[in-house]
Amino acid sequence: MKTSSDAPTWIDPFGRSIEYLRLSVTDRCDLRCGYCMPKKYTGFKEPSEWLTFDEIERLVRALARGGLRKVRLTGGEPLLRRNLTDLASRLSAVPGIVDLSLSTNATRLAGMASELKRSGVSRLNVSLDSLKPERVEAICGQNVLPKVLDGLQAAKAAGFAPIKINTVAMAGVNEDEIDDIVDYCDSQAFTLRLIEVMPMGDSGRNAQYLDLQGVRRRLQRRFGLVDGVVPGGGPARYLCRPSDGFSIGFITPMSQHFCATCNRVRLAVDGTMYMCLGHEDRYEFRALLRGNAGDAAIQQAVRQAILRKPERHEFRESPHKVLRFMSATGG
Ligand code: SAM
Ligand code: SF4
Repeated sequence: MKTSSDAPTWIDPFGRSIEYLRLSVTDRCDLRCGYCMPKKYTGFKEPSEWLTFDEIERLVRALARGGLRKVRLTGGEPLLRRNLTDLASRLSAVPGIVDLSLSTNATRLAGMASELKRSGVSRLNVSLDSLKPERVEAICGQNVLPKVLDGLQAAKAAGFAPIKINTVAMAGVNEDEIDDIVDYCDSQAFTLRLIEVMPMGDSGRNAQYLDLQGVRRRLQRRFGLVDGVVPGGGPARYLCRPSDGFSIGFITPMSQHFCATCNRVRLAVDGTMYMCLGHEDRYEFRALLRGNAGDAAIQQAVRQAILRKPERHEFRESPHKVLRFMSATGG
């Protein structure tokens, strides 16, 4: 991937450089994780509302001209978007973009891992909330565990390293399995990230929140871990084992938020840019992209969007504020 020496120009009102885009390529998903998407949800965007690959690339180029450096493909389930690897190839070639990553539930990863690697995806995050088939079914609506484990092996064979496992930790749901998941990740050389559930939509609000501070202290003692830093670690705070670098990240938006260092914005499949997971502040780009706006107008719109970024989420003070759920946002 090419790099750009341009100084960042996307600075939000709180002095943060916006260098990272989470790009939702679909709001659809083959699963229904209880904390993410309502079981009977049908209000998906129509294909005519989806940004095309040309529109996405144009917007990413505009963002990269002002300092965007990293893009993560997400959704919904990004591997459902047809020809995703074509988009990945195009985005990984955009000057200035030095890191293209993907978040996936891995149900389709086994057949796509090599092609994703060839198309320039450099890092993978895979969701895995349990190693027990009946729990996977209870959490996400289907027992996809065998497919996910196959997908992870295919990703390893394709040369992805490190592979990160995202586990949403929930009280009374998978809390008792955290040590087993740590052991599994250790045995496979995967990096584990434990995530606190966020009150996004009723699905997130109804999930069984677990404060991870106590879990962190317990795992630190049990596995002999020390505070550490992981490249591309994002908002997670990591514990590492010095002897071999095995790491566990803790994403704690609720018990210890990380808004002061937030460097990201999110683009939904319909071209709506969300400035923060915890607010409704947004900027609509689709009409602009379809209305033959020139590059200068798009740059100006990006600048205006970034000026709308709020200082911090208010999940604790206003847990009922965010109506949209995670899969509609580009989590
Ligand atoms: N479908 C892909 C997947 O599951 O990895 C990508 C999209 S998913 C929305 C991205 C991440 O958001 C997943 O790791 C998922 O566990 C997490 N997530 C979804 N809803 C959440 C919530 N309410 N609170 C915290 N994390 C959530
Ligand atoms: Fe789908 Fe990912 Fe949401 Fe689960 S977390 S419902 S896999 S988008």
